[in-house]
Amino acid sequence: ACLYRVDGWGAPYFSVNSSGNISVRPHGADTLLHQEFDLMKIVKKASDPKSAGGLGLQLPLVIRLPDVLKNRLESLQSAFDLAIKSQDYKAHYQGVYPVKCNQDRYVVEDIVRFGSPFRFGLEAGSKPELLLAMSCLCKGSPDALLVCNGFKDAEYISLALLAKQLALNTVIVLEQEEELDLVIEISKKLMVSPVIGVRAKLRTKHSGHFGSTSGEKGKFGLTTTQILRVVRKLEQAGMLDCLQLLHFHIGSQIPSTALLLDGASEAAQIYCELIRLGAQMKIIDIGGGLGIDYDGSKSEDSDISVGYSLEEYASAVVQAIHAVCTGRSVKHPVLCSESGRAIVSHHSVLVFEAASASVHDAPPAISSLELQSFVESFKEDARAIYGNLFSAARRCEYDNCLSYAEQLKQKSIQLFKEGLMGMEELAAVDGLCDFVSKAVGVADPVHTYHVNLSVFTSVPDFWGIGQLFPIVPIHRLDERPGLRGILSDLTCDSDGKIDKFIGGESSLPLHELDGTGYYLGMFLGGAYEEAVGGLHNLFGGPSIIRVQQSESPHSFAVTLAVPGPSSADVLRLMQHEPNLMMKTLRDRAEEYAGGDRDGMASMALASYLSRSFRNMPYLIRASSCGLNAT
Ligand code: PLP
Repeated sequence: ACLYRVDGWGAPYFSVNSSGNISVRPHGADTLLHQEFDLMKIVKKASDPKSAGGLGLQLPLVIRLPDVLKNRLESLQSAFDLAIKSQDYKAHYQGVYPVKCNQDRYVVEDIVRFGSPFRFGLEAGSKPELLLAMSCLCKGSPDALLVCNGFKDAEYISLALLAKQLALNTVIVLEQEEELDLVIEISKKLMVSPVIGVRAKLRTKHSGHFGSTSGEKGKFGLTTTQILRVVRKLEQAGMLDCLQLLHFHIGSQIPSTALLLDGASEAAQIYCELIRLGAQMKIIDIGGGLGIDYDGSKSEDSDISVGYSLEEYASAVVQAIHAVCTGRSVKHPVLCSESGRAIVSHHSVLVFEAASASVHDAPPAISSLELQSFVESFKEDARAIYGNLFSAARRCEYDNCLSYAEQLKQKSIQLFKEGLMGMEELAAVDGLCDFVSKAVGVADPVHTYHVNLSVFTSVPDFWGIGQLFPIVPIHRLDERPGLRGILSDLTCDSDGKIDKFIGGESSLPLHELDGTGYYLGMFLGGAYEEAVGGLHNLFGGPSIIRVQQSESPHSFAVTLAVPGPSSADVLRLMQHEPNLMMKTLRDRAEEYAGGDRDGMASMALASYLSRSFRNMPYLIRASSCGLNAT
């Protein structure tokens, strides 16, 4: 557990149990609802064939834990409730979930359901997100906010106004100044009085990777001058009372509460100024940015960690806004936040299998006797280098050994290219050089584990922005890993690998494969990874199961099981037509394999083809790939 810092990034949801497996505590630190189960048992249940009582799903697999979502929401709410109470703040907190972090239907529905007792709402950043937020919020609290962010056209604004007509508590947040004209025009036409928010470009800037959305040059939001123009225009239109919310977003993974205090104080001043200018302000929406601790270091100096707890975050926000508003005798605003990462990251675990590992300890390709006879056949200059190597080895001159081994290798490659050395001799030289490296102690100890996964599909942020996630074997953790490895995925792309790990490591401690299956988990990937992922090499998404508490504290129930997209599904996404493809191939099979009188061979081929279309694109263990199927 220490090797992988599980206690650092995993608490209170993940730990290592006495069997050496990762165990899940979906209710976190809530002792009244204590429940714990073994991740390996879930994987087994999901992947065992249906005949063995399993669900027969192919890996990779995303395990969703809705109880973790519930715990995250409740923890966030109680952190704000506590800060509000202890600082005698005179308004409440009601958050919204930015659906862009994970738009999965069940994730959004769960959040609306679990958050309903405390008016938790949704944030949308595009028209389809707005449509899904509108329909999901019909089942939520009537007071829950529907915050409409993102670039907007007339259709987006009309939809948002329609949501208001449907009695959803909708706020249209202006991200661009031009949006205001459309809002005024369409709301007058539809005779709906909108609730308007403005997104302010704060001067406070977050310097980390995710800070480019903040500061005066940030992509979104209105400058001070633009906000003043919006106020004037609303006044002229007789709609200044519609302006009720101030929004800002410093950037994701805010590293410290000092930065948050700074940003929230600046925003609170703008809020008070808007009241002074006549707006009927009610809400400050502090955006997202509540960070999570991916590497378990709890340090604000790490790009993938944060130096504060949920309670400290909430306390800083309340403190900053309280101080400014109280100082200016302004009624305390309702506090809203748009935390995405902090709500959904923990609730899903991606499990994948290491299919094979490069073997560095392979027996030498050739015996010393054979090598001797090859050496005799070497060209004169190669033989001379070999002689030097041999003498350096006898004198224990290790640096010289390495240098002669390298010279011999280069010479042999040259001779091979010239047709003066055979493959067996070249392999013998490679084996000899590996042997020398190992003997001298500089052999590369890092193995390549081939994993049944696409990095582009399932860990796109590692490929795109170098984001690190905790990756850990989910079993055998009572056994010291003997090797170190990097992970190489199934795509035919050299970027399809994971070679950086939390803690600044360039390899991961891993166990030797023993042929019984080696399962790794990527944790804290519940936000962004699923929506951002692509289809490189036509590897689609993973299978998904939803795992919830059953009666006993150590057992679980799978309440949803969805196989990942099949080869036919991903082909369809690229406009191929699997039915037509199947027909073409079936006709071909009849033509070429139809020589048998009763057509059995062509039927077997057709059945095999159709199975290949139905299966997921990932590797299947040989025993279940249907080669024997008729
Ligand atoms: N709100 C806005 C406007 C955002 O741009 C983002 C993400 O960048 C979020 C909320 C969610 O941020 P996070 O996932 O860091 O909480």
